[in-house]
Amino acid sequence: MADQFKYCNSLTEYSRLKTIEVNVGNIGVGGDNPIRLQSMTTTDTMDTELSIEQAIRMIEAGCELVRYTAPSKKEAENLKLIRNGLNSKGYTTPLVADIHFTPNAAEVAALYIEKIRVNPGNYADKKKFEEIDYTDESYKTELIRIKEKFTPLVLLCKEKGRAIRIGTNHGSLSDRITSRFGDSAVGMVESALEFIKICEDNEFYNLVISMKSSNPLIMVQAYRILAGRMLKRDKVYPLHLGVTEAGEGEDGRIKSAVGIGTLLEDGLGDTIRVSLTEDPELEIPVAKKLAERYENRLIHDYIKPINFDLPYNPFEYNKRKTNTVKNIGGKNHPIVISDLSHLDTISAANIFGAGYSYNVNDDKWNIKEQAVDYIYTGLTIPKFALPGTLNVICDSTVWKNAPQTYPVFGDVDSFINSKNKSNTLNFICIDVSDLELVKRVKDLDDTIVLVSFSSNFHRMAEKRRFLIELMNQDIKTPVVIFNEYEDLDNESLQLYASTDFGALLIDGLSDGIWLKTENCSNLQLNTSTAFGILQATRTRISKTDYISCPSCGRTLFDLQETTAKIRLKTNHLKGLKIGIMGCIVNGPGEMADADYGYVGVGKGKINLYKERTVVKKNIDEIKAVDELVALIKEYGDWVEPKHN
Ligand code: SF4
Repeated sequence: MADQFKYCNSLTEYSRLKTIEVNVGNIGVGGDNPIRLQSMTTTDTMDTELSIEQAIRMIEAGCELVRYTAPSKKEAENLKLIRNGLNSKGYTTPLVADIHFTPNAAEVAALYIEKIRVNPGNYADKKKFEEIDYTDESYKTELIRIKEKFTPLVLLCKEKGRAIRIGTNHGSLSDRITSRFGDSAVGMVESALEFIKICEDNEFYNLVISMKSSNPLIMVQAYRILAGRMLKRDKVYPLHLGVTEAGEGEDGRIKSAVGIGTLLEDGLGDTIRVSLTEDPELEIPVAKKLAERYENRLIHDYIKPINFDLPYNPFEYNKRKTNTVKNIGGKNHPIVISDLSHLDTISAANIFGAGYSYNVNDDKWNIKEQAVDYIYTGLTIPKFALPGTLNVICDSTVWKNAPQTYPVFGDVDSFINSKNKSNTLNFICIDVSDLELVKRVKDLDDTIVLVSFSSNFHRMAEKRRFLIELMNQDIKTPVVIFNEYEDLDNESLQLYASTDFGALLIDGLSDGIWLKTENCSNLQLNTSTAFGILQATRTRISKTDYISCPSCGRTLFDLQETTAKIRLKTNHLKGLKIGIMGCIVNGPGEMADADYGYVGVGKGKINLYKERTVVKKNIDEIKAVDELVALIKEYGDWVEPKHN
């Protein structure tokens, strides 16, 4: 069936999904407007001066919509003073009120500011992690109750010309939704559609929709399902993109770029927020870098079109089935290849940044969790004894049959014509613009791993097109994705690589990452970026996962400082998920995926969670990090850190 999975305009030609233009104060969102950048303040909304000052810093950094938390009527009321204060200083940037649990605060905020964000999971529902058995009749009754609660806000926004964002969060889906649709991307979409329908019943269409999750896979799937559902109706509302609780620094940037970038590649997204556990003005340059990449994307080389009758399901993660070739493909996690081909000679010291350090005293290699699987050395063959887990790829022209060393061929012909091949593993570079090569790959033997290259401006899509062709022809040769970057600052490199590799990993279409950089970055950064992308796409776990909220006016402790303290003590606990949440109102829901949680419950007071259950209450903040470590030990998840 053609177009079975249609969720965007095209998978091959870059094109933004045409959405309704929504007016938010003096700016348009969606339609032909540029991708709007936004962020949220971290100040107490009752502190008018600080809230105005922070908003000005955000606006000066390029923020086009400023969001404030409005936990109760009094904060909503104070938005009037903030709006007036900003106006008097010449800042007319639209403001947004963030509402959870308090419809009456939403109705006050709508009197003064341009947009109201509601969370369908808690606007009229509560979450107790209960499974409730609804009949069709009792479910309908619930919908009537929700309609009664939400309609007054819709009518008020209609009267005042305000916009509403229906902002679904995976972590705070109501028990009603999870009981009926599961704790899933589909549940997120259904939750938003219920609220959309109430708006439409009232002929209110000034809507923006979001589907956020701290898990980029769920987030991408939910936006795609929503876009697909909206395309089947006659109204496609603008999409606000974001990954919640992405964290800080490198992790936060990589996670955000994997989720947001994957969607932007397919033309989805009218406004974005990068949620970092950092000052909000620091989020804007990151958002800007992500959005700017698509300003000229229309002019890319032709890629042969395909319809949406795909050989994989873009709404559900499944890895492409591939042959196992040594430790690549099949059930192996994606490999990481470091490119050292720029070096004339390669010594043991050159691979320190790849996760290997040689201890002269013990005459031993120390191997980090994030140690690459292969190094590409070009025409050079390393002369030192390699660590047991490391293999070398060198050009086929210099390759000799030696342990842990494998050749890479420049193209299919040079492989076929060569008499000097490995019996176990041969890499072949493939220019993915040539789909005719797919037929030739079919006849190759099972020692082959393809390395996919593209010089197309829209290169992720071209690689995906090639992979789809391989799948359509039932070819199971593993494919490593190659991307090269030049002259970029470190942050841009991480954002671009996370998008280009992440978008394929999210659909299970990659058996490895080969990241090459020229005149930028360094080996250590490339290694941590590659492993960070694999961690964010949940395809290879090599470190602790922190789900930390970006903080807002509800935050009850210094999130940045506390996150740093927790990281220091726990960053060796590979695979453990730790939630660090600023408040009890949203925290437990938002970190529902975490193994342990650290949640602000009052000024200087912390609750600790084991999964969804509170196990230590009202702990003094001073000793809360140590108590968290004790808790992890108590439940048997602690290991002592290795000191390399
Ligand atoms: S969890 Fe964090 S960002 Fe979310 S409402 Fe609470 S303090 Fe604000």
